[in-house]
This record gives sequence, C-alpha cells and structure tokens, in this order.
Amino acid sequence: MERNKGNHKFVSGFSKKTKAAKIAWVTQHFAEQEAAQEVLNAYSHADTSRQNLHDDFIENAVANFYLPLGVAPNFLINNKVITIPMAIEESSVVAAAANAAKFWSTKGGFHARILGVEKVGHVHIIFDGDTAKLQHFFEAHKEDLIRSTEAITQNMRSRGGGITAVTLVDKTPLLAGYFQLDVRFNTQDAMGANFINSCLEQLAASLQELAKQYSPFSKAEKEIEVVMSILSNYVPNCLVEVSVSCPVNTLLETPEESTLFAEKFVQAVRIAEIEPYRAVTHNKGIMNGVDAVVIASGNDFRAVEAGVHAYAAKDGSYRSLSTATIKDGVFHFSLTLPLAVGTVGGLTKLHPMVKWSHELMGFPTAEELMQIIAVAGLAQNFAAVKSLVTTGIQQGHMKMHLLNILNQLKATAVEKKAAIDYFKTNPVSHHTVTALLENLRAK
Ligand code: NAD
Repeated sequence: MERNKGNHKFVSGFSKKTKAAKIAWVTQHFAEQEAAQEVLNAYSHADTSRQNLHDDFIENAVANFYLPLGVAPNFLINNKVITIPMAIEESSVVAAAANAAKFWSTKGGFHARILGVEKVGHVHIIFDGDTAKLQHFFEAHKEDLIRSTEAITQNMRSRGGGITAVTLVDKTPLLAGYFQLDVRFNTQDAMGANFINSCLEQLAASLQELAKQYSPFSKAEKEIEVVMSILSNYVPNCLVEVSVSCPVNTLLETPEESTLFAEKFVQAVRIAEIEPYRAVTHNKGIMNGVDAVVIASGNDFRAVEAGVHAYAAKDGSYRSLSTATIKDGVFHFSLTLPLAVGTVGGLTKLHPMVKWSHELMGFPTAEELMQIIAVAGLAQNFAAVKSLVTTGIQQGHMKMHLLNILNQLKATAVEKKAAIDYFKTNPVSHHTVTALLENLRAK
C-alpha cells in the first residue's frame, strides 16, 4: 500500500476491535507494514499476563512505550540515605541528580518538611437569583451537604482524612451568576482525584435536590444550574519545602573559588526570580528531577506540572520556584513546591515497575514521597545552575549526549571507548562525533 502521509480514513468501532485487528489497521499506514508490526511486537511483553496488565491501563493499547529507569544513590534526606528511582529519557538528568546527591551528602544533606496537605475541588454553579437567599440556603444546609457524602468519605475519615471545609464563594463580579462550592480535602496517602471528584458530584446532586425543597427560593431559584464538579490541580496549600545549606567557604576546593561560585549562583537564581524567560528554563530544570520521580512512582505528571507552573505564577509574574541566599557566610538554597501525589491509588499498586520503585524508596507515605520528589527537583536545579555558572551547561550535557550520538551512528564497543577518550578533551557535537567515527573507520 502507498503511504498516505498522515491522512488516514475515519474508522468506526475501533475500540471494539481485537488487539490484532487494531494492529493490522494502524500498521497499514506504514510504508512497510510487517516491519511496523515487528516494532510493536518487539516492545510487547512475551509474558501474556504481564502484557494484559499493561493493555488494561488504557484504551487501544498496541504495545508498550519504554522510558529508561535510572537510580540516583546517596541522597541524604532528613538524616536518612535513600536511592531515588527516576524514569526519564533526557541523558544528563540521573547523572546530575547523583552528582548533586553526593555533593550534599558530605554537607549535611537535604532538609525537607511538609507545609500543608490540603487538596481543593469545586462545584461550579450558576445561580441567577437573590445572592443573600443563596447564602442563607447554603448556611442552613451546609451540614446536610457534608452529611450526604458520608458513604463516600467513610473510609477516608477512618484514616484521618475527608472533607475539611466547604464554603460558598461569590464569583459574580467575574462572571454573571457564577458561584462555587469551594471544598477542601485531606486525602491522606492518595493523590485523591477520584475521591475528590466523587465527593463533589455527590455535593452537586445534594445541592440541587435541597434547593428544590427550599421554600424561600422562587421557582426559578430552585433550579440551581451545576456547570461542573471537578478537583483543581492548583494546590497552593499542599506544599513541601526542601533546602540545603553550608558555609560558603566549603562549597568548592578553595575559599576564593567558593565565594565567587556562591555569589554567581545567587545572582543566577535572582535572575530567574525576575526574568520569566530564564524562570521557565530554570523551573524546567527543577521539573527534570520532579517528573522523573513522579513517573517512576506512578503519579500523574500532568497534574503535577499544571499545579507547579500555576504556583510559579501565583504572584502575577512567572518566577523561579527556588531561592538562594548568602547570610552570615552561609549559603542557603531552597525550593517550595505544590505536590499532589499518592502512594496508594492510581497506578501505584498495579504497575510492577512502580511497585518496585516504591519498595526501593522504602514504601514512603504520600508526605515522604512529596519530600523525595522535591529533593530530586532541588538536586537537579543545583546541578544545572552549578554547571551554568561554572563550566557552562554543554560540557556535562554533551558528554552524556555523546553516548546517544554514538548509538545513533551505530558505534561498536571499541569505537565508543575511543570516542569517550577523545572527547574528554574535545568539544562534542554531532559533526565532531561523525568525523571521529569516519576517521576511525577509515583506518
Ligand atoms: P484512586 O481512585 O485509586 O483512589 C485511592 C484509593 O485508595 C481509595 O479507594 C482509598 O480509599 C484507598 N486508600 C487505601 N489506603 C489509603 C490511604 N492510606 N490513604 C488514602 N487512601 C487510601 O486514586 P485517587 O488518588 O483518588 O486518584 C488518582 C488517580 O486519578 C490518578 O491515576 C490520576 O491520574 C487520576 N485522575 C486525575 C485527574 C486530575 O488530576 N485532574 C482527574 C481524574 C483522574
């Protein structure tokens, strides 16, 4: 079949087809159908029960998509040493994390503390009636609303969590008729999205039901419109703070270079505090560490990404998430992150590699996992800013990238060894690696 360059035909009932039929349909769009099927085959697990497990995670699964799982040892966090699992494709991230871990392991390590664990969700409603009447209705029925969720919250309450507050918020200055039930939650060791959404949908249904029976309301006011009920991934009160500090003069080999380094480091972080172009890349570096652990621990990285960047813009301008200072001869570097993550629920007990990662970390609670993730973010940020203000980012980055280029160019083990030696003192680029290989191969 001639390749149709992405303009595929509509297909109906696709999700109901067998997996083999789905693969046959999708691979017909490739120039070499058999080769395309072979790739899917190669990336499917030979053990059928294992493969079935992965197929059940999503709809229309045709194979597995691999990311490398690396480990970064020597993280001293609150006086405990742990090895952090990281699932990531970017070549320099695990190496940078491991370097930063080792660097701080002899300087007191990382300090981590939880500042809050509150999650948030809203029932978004439209009410075109009398605001004072709505407020009276809400106050009169607030406890009934909460009581109506008891069957859903029973287990969570027995663990010490549940709904912690419900308020009615008047948003009509921003949008005509728009009010919210703003609901706060403690979801213990769960990220909580499904739990929160279930509670919100129950609150919405009860709100509509109670409004229908509220006699002070007019006929129209009894019909409160529920637009949607959904958690928010903005969690500015579910926060973890991590930090490192040491006397400035012990940072590098000599006191002179240490002072110069610390001052430049602080300046680099200040630039990221006031310059959004730099702040975005600075925070991307933090997320290199954060996402890798979020993924390895089976958590929702889209939720974390959305919440973290919203938090970085909370003051009205997008800023660095980390801060660095020098005070009384001591260098301080810290990071505060909103992180809604779980150690139960979602994929955490289903995906074998996720289970493995949790065991490696010593089966952390959600609060401990928040601390580990934030530490990975701070470690990454430290390593990146350290390179930026000293050797430049490319030296370390391209050395790691060298292996990717060598693999792309199908270098043999002998060629790789020769290339690694050569590029210890020469700049790495696609062009220079190709030239070296051509040279070696011409001999
Ligand atoms: P979940 O639905 O699997 O629920 C967690 C379960 O763990 C609950 O049944 C709870 O009772 C149980 N549990 C056992 N021990 C617990 C403990 N110690 N603490 C707390 N709960 C305990 O998971 P969830 O956390 O409600 O939702 C997370 C999933 O929702 C993720 O997969 C996420 O991708 C997905 N999701 C996210 C969004 C979003 O972020 N916008 C929206 C919808 C779904």
